[in-house]
Amino acid sequence: MAATVKIFNIVKSNMSPNKLTYGLLAPMQVRSKYYCISEPDPSMKFKDMSERAVHIMFWTELFRGLGITLANLFKEPATINYPFEKGPLSPRFRGEHALRRYPSGEERCIACKLCEAICPAQAITIEAEEREDGSRRTTRYDIDMTKCIYCGFCQEACPVDAIVEGPNFEFSTESREELLYNKEKLLNNGDKWESEIASNIYADHLYR
Ligand code: SF4
Ligand code: SF4
Repeated sequence: MAATVKIFNIVKSNMSPNKLTYGLLAPMQVRSKYYCISEPDPSMKFKDMSERAVHIMFWTELFRGLGITLANLFKEPATINYPFEKGPLSPRFRGEHALRRYPSGEERCIACKLCEAICPAQAITIEAEEREDGSRRTTRYDIDMTKCIYCGFCQEACPVDAIVEGPNFEFSTESREELLYNKEKLLNNGDKWESEIASNIYADHLYR
């Protein structure tokens, strides 16, 4: 940077730029144009000098800065007071996973395993068996959240909107084991976030 400023100063004082160029740059980098990026020398006209003197004597910069600070005190802040305030989330936000139930309380999942098959991270593990009433349900539904890349493919593949990525993004843990979700944890998430999940799915249903 210091060398660059030096170059520009010398060029400004009408010395040959070629001498300088050959000395400091490789032959393939010969330049034909130079731009001054240094601060220009202060003007020595009486008007400009007196203006600078007024700025120094009356601290005008300081008062202008204080004015900007005061003006911003009464404006709406550009930041939010997280975690007490939260910003808006898109209905398509892909957060923590949840398994949903029907209003009757019955699990939606029919153990078709499409989500397991499509998951590019192989994060989902499902085991299933037939119930006494002939319906097919999972006996195991695990998601390894440390593998998940939040692509949303499982949600897209599910024919009954059972597995979804809900709006919760605050699920950090202190240990890796806590991120190995089982069916019970996923169903609990579904029960907890059902109203938000249902309204997000409805808001986006025209585009799916
Ligand atoms: S969001 Fe993607 S990576 Fe995560 S479980 Fe679903 S399909 Fe797998
Ligand atoms: S969550 Fe959906 S896609 Fe996955 S097994 Fe259940 S019904 Fe099939």
